[in-house]
Amino acid sequence: MSDKKSFQTLLTTTDYRPPEGFDAFPTPIHHASTVLFRDVAALRSRNWQEKNGYTYGLHGTPTTFTLEARLAEIEGGSDCLLAPSGLAAIAMIDLALLRAGDDLLIPENVYNPNRELAQWLSRDFNITVRYYDALIGEGITALIQPNTRLIWTEAPGSVSMEVPDIPAICRAAHARGVPVALDNTWSAGIGFRAFDHGVDIVMQALTKYHSGGSDVLMGAVITRDQDLHRKVGAAHMRLGMGVSGDDAYLVLRGLPSMKLRFDAHDAAARQIAQWLKGRPEISQVLHPALSDCPGHAIWQRDFTGAGGLFSVLFDPRFTEAQTDHFIDSLKLFRIGYSWGGANSLAVPYRMAAIRREWSSAGQLVRFNIGLEAVEDLIADLEQAMLTLA
Ligand SMILES: *Cc1c(COP(=O)(O)O)cnc(C)c1O
Repeated sequence: MSDKKSFQTLLTTTDYRPPEGFDAFPTPIHHASTVLFRDVAALRSRNWQEKNGYTYGLHGTPTTFTLEARLAEIEGGSDCLLAPSGLAAIAMIDLALLRAGDDLLIPENVYNPNRELAQWLSRDFNITVRYYDALIGEGITALIQPNTRLIWTEAPGSVSMEVPDIPAICRAAHARGVPVALDNTWSAGIGFRAFDHGVDIVMQALTKYHSGGSDVLMGAVITRDQDLHRKVGAAHMRLGMGVSGDDAYLVLRGLPSMKLRFDAHDAAARQIAQWLKGRPEISQVLHPALSDCPGHAIWQRDFTGAGGLFSVLFDPRFTEAQTDHFIDSLKLFRIGYSWGGANSLAVPYRMAAIRREWSSAGQLVRFNIGLEAVEDLIADLEQAMLTLA
């Protein structure tokens, strides 16, 4: 089905069937803890572990099952499981696939809470965790051990934005029978078609572009292999990873406009990144579509879009106090984590604290470009730059 429909059509159509005599576009919000069975035979025929029907509110309602089915189709996979946040989806993958004695490979530039979780697994659960250079490509072969059970990737890496060679990492991993998980949040599954490039498990923070509203937290794990889906499903059930129907509805409501928003974020961010590249205050623009960005050639080869999130390095002559003042002087750009919504944001990062081998001098600031007019955003950046002088 996904082969025939264009992406935008996929985002705007639903297979949900409303009750006889009532037709409307939205998926209804179903609330239930108790799910009722017609008789004992019906109760016995449904298996909550397999999610082969409605059994209990925690394990899904027509609202959440519809969202899962739509996300699987949009990402190009066969199955999806929802989690209450992007980070919860990451945890579900780790706990589904790792056990004591196993080895986990994580890129140096991974989303920091993913690393925090890995450190916990390493400290208290006897799992070894090793960090690799995100640009390692085929070289990851040398790091794979007989007990390596999972390789995390992120494209591009959080904050520092290096673009990894996902197909090369997948080839090396598959040659040794190791599954590859990708945090595909940055591209929303629009700018990078993960399964086409060999990824086994896709994680999305729906909190970002899928919702687009800056008002809901949710994550998803999408697979296309039944064995992996079964393992993630067992973790989903054992951990009690339920999401509310109201929240699922907010994500469903964002889907039809997701690609239009993503393309608008993308076009605006590229214009602003180009403008920043021309500024004497900025030493490097870490935007995958710009040649300054490590892994830019791989982005060009594998990606079809970039969205609104990128970082810049200020010239090393500016102190942290000065760039903090720059951020405080912005009026349209607000200060806050998360991203993917309509409003532009700026966040400073102390890179030495989150990357072991960070060598770039100069303060790093990450921008989320929202849906405001580009000329107004540039004017805002320009007036704040004047405070640096
Ligand atoms: C935001 C984010 C997450 C986590 O999503 P939450 O819903 O905030 O937990 C994971 N990975 C990346 C790359 C993110 O930007």
